[in-house]
Amino acid sequence: MNAAPVIPIRAASTGCSDAPVLRERGQREVFCGLTGIIWLHRKIQDAFFLVVGSRTCAHLIQSAAGVMIFAEPRFATAIIDERDLAGLADCNDELDRVVARLLERRPEIKLLFLVGSCPSEVIKLDLSRAAQRLSARFNPGVRVLNYSGSGIETTFTQGEDACLAALVPGLPATTAGAPIELMVVGALADVVEDQFARLFRQLGIGPVHFFPPRQANRMPPVGPNTRFLLAQPFLADTAQALQARGARRLAAPFPLGVEGTTAWLQAAAAAFGTEGQIFDAVTAPARQRATAALARHRAQLGDRSVFFFPDSQLEIPLARFLSRELGMRLTEVGTPYLHRSHLAEELALLPEGTTLSEGQDVEKQLDRCRAARPDIVVCGLGLANPLEGEGMTTKWAIELVFTPIQGYEQAGDLAELFARPLVRRARLARAPE
Ligand code: SF4
Repeated sequence: MNAAPVIPIRAASTGCSDAPVLRERGQREVFCGLTGIIWLHRKIQDAFFLVVGSRTCAHLIQSAAGVMIFAEPRFATAIIDERDLAGLADCNDELDRVVARLLERRPEIKLLFLVGSCPSEVIKLDLSRAAQRLSARFNPGVRVLNYSGSGIETTFTQGEDACLAALVPGLPATTAGAPIELMVVGALADVVEDQFARLFRQLGIGPVHFFPPRQANRMPPVGPNTRFLLAQPFLADTAQALQARGARRLAAPFPLGVEGTTAWLQAAAAAFGTEGQIFDAVTAPARQRATAALARHRAQLGDRSVFFFPDSQLEIPLARFLSRELGMRLTEVGTPYLHRSHLAEELALLPEGTTLSEGQDVEKQLDRCRAARPDIVVCGLGLANPLEGEGMTTKWAIELVFTPIQGYEQAGDLAELFARPLVRRARLARAPE
């Protein structure tokens, strides 16, 4: 096979490594961390998510997730109504009753998450003590853990971070002195996980564990011989918890597009001593397929401008992909939280002079967006409709979290997610009145 050699990634400069960041702390339009349940319940197939919250939380979960569920739901809401402090003991009793009833009805549940929310009655409840109490009661068949999906503490994808961080202390330990192992951290669609597992095997990298696993009883081991690759950029607390268990993070851009995927795989290949020639030969067919798939979209996307509102924390890796592989112009790249160290390799690849913002003051950001008149705006559902009404083309950020977009085979689909709204807008503009 004549493998196309991998071109080492070299930024023309340090990109946006030291670029100033506009920090805003005003009103924000972002989903809360409960949203993560929508993809986590599909990933860990025998886990159950019990939201301890209000009717608003139940409504969010049902309306956001209900339409996407075709198996029996693996989440529910224990509604905690308004109570005074004296009513808290009842609250705990009620929670215990709900959990007991649930586990009786659903004996297949092996892992139960109590997910906290932001109503004041829930904040007063000590969910970590409740989880310990319930774990002791239902041990060894069921583990009960807790994390917060509250809109005060978490945005959207941070729910996954809080969930995975809650799992880390209970992960089994690796064998002392054993050779290094790889852990891929962050929920990926099963199809993407299978593709990566195949590539790692061909590259001679292993053992490889994926976290979260598909089954609650297949938790990966962790220890000083663990090297981990983040598959998602929003896992700051999880990474910290893994490092506290001795694991070491492999620094890399995120596996979006040909360039990001190659650099991500290369980081693992370097840690496991895979030779360059083998790396080139193994990855060449997929790189070529992905490059060809991207070429089809470059005509539509090249030189178009894009504006990112902060939403999923995927914004910086996506912006790097759109700018470097599709030739798009970045007007503003907003992110809810900018983790400088996890994003160092991404920032170095962003074009110098890109406007970066962290947090949100939604009215001011809307003004900047209107002034920039980008060709496409990536934003949450709440902003998309009004902006479309003003004649702008939008892309829902949440779609980028639900759709498999990582890896070589998905690079073309990822580009298409941005091309489609532009094509639709162009068609509408041409359509007779
Ligand atoms: Fe709303 Fe808070 Fe419940 Fe999220 S956790 S749905 S922000 S009340």
